[in-house]
Amino acid sequence: MTAEQGITRLGVLPLFDPAAEEPPADAIELYLEAPLTVGLLFHLATEGDDLRHLLGPVEEAREAGVAAALESLAHFGEVKVGDHYPGPNLTTIGRREPAQLFVTRVRHVGVDGHHDVARLHDHLYLGRRAVSKADGRQYPLDLDSFQQTHALMDSAYRRALQRSLAATAGVKWSEPREGERAELVAPPLLGCLPDYPRVLCHWHRPLAQRWVVGDGRRRHDNPFLLENRRPHEARAPWEDDDFDGWERAV
Ligand SMILES: [Zn+2]
Repeated sequence: MTAEQGITRLGVLPLFDPAAEEPPADAIELYLEAPLTVGLLFHLATEGDDLRHLLGPVEEAREAGVAAALESLAHFGEVKVGDHYPGPNLTTIGRREPAQLFVTRVRHVGVDGHHDVARLHDHLYLGRRAVSKADGRQYPLDLDSFQQTHALMDSAYRRALQRSLAATAGVKWSEPREGERAELVAPPLLGCLPDYPRVLCHWHRPLAQRWVVGDGRRRHDNPFLLENRRPHEARAPWEDDDFDGWERAV
């Protein structure tokens, strides 16, 4: 495959070895996409000598973004310890402890089958269990407030990536409207985007638990809350028989 793979351990424990193993079936996949214009810039920088000096800054910005995302993820990670009981809004009531997470990162430059331009992205595979910092034992990860963590990850990732590239390469970013993502306006790449549609990578068959970071910030976008549901509470759209992926829900 053409994609580049790797693993980093930024304050988290490795979940699996991507060179030799598949993600555990119950892992949660968090998908981080660099802005498409950054992929375009990376592509142009690999094509000729004029922009080759930008390859380093782009990689550096990407690493800054992923590090910030992992930091916010690790900071908010908690486990549920002992018995938990149904609480309001599909949450549970019980003891929670700060935890060290199991996360494996797989980094890709492009999406297989779509070689028109680079689409820099990272898959973060998150384990369903984590290690309590209080007693060192493993417990179920608390996913009740995950939509908040997810939103914080998204803003941390984008802010770090944008700041890094502005500082090292002098680029300028668009000021996006609500729900849109910032893209590069200097160099003027924003106008090229219609030629390069957004494509998500399916390196590993997407798990039902895939979250595209930046999509789906609403409370009812959190599928993990359903695990706390009482028997009489309603089904969610993604539980329908014809629903085959979390991406469809956002
Ligand atoms: Zn990928």
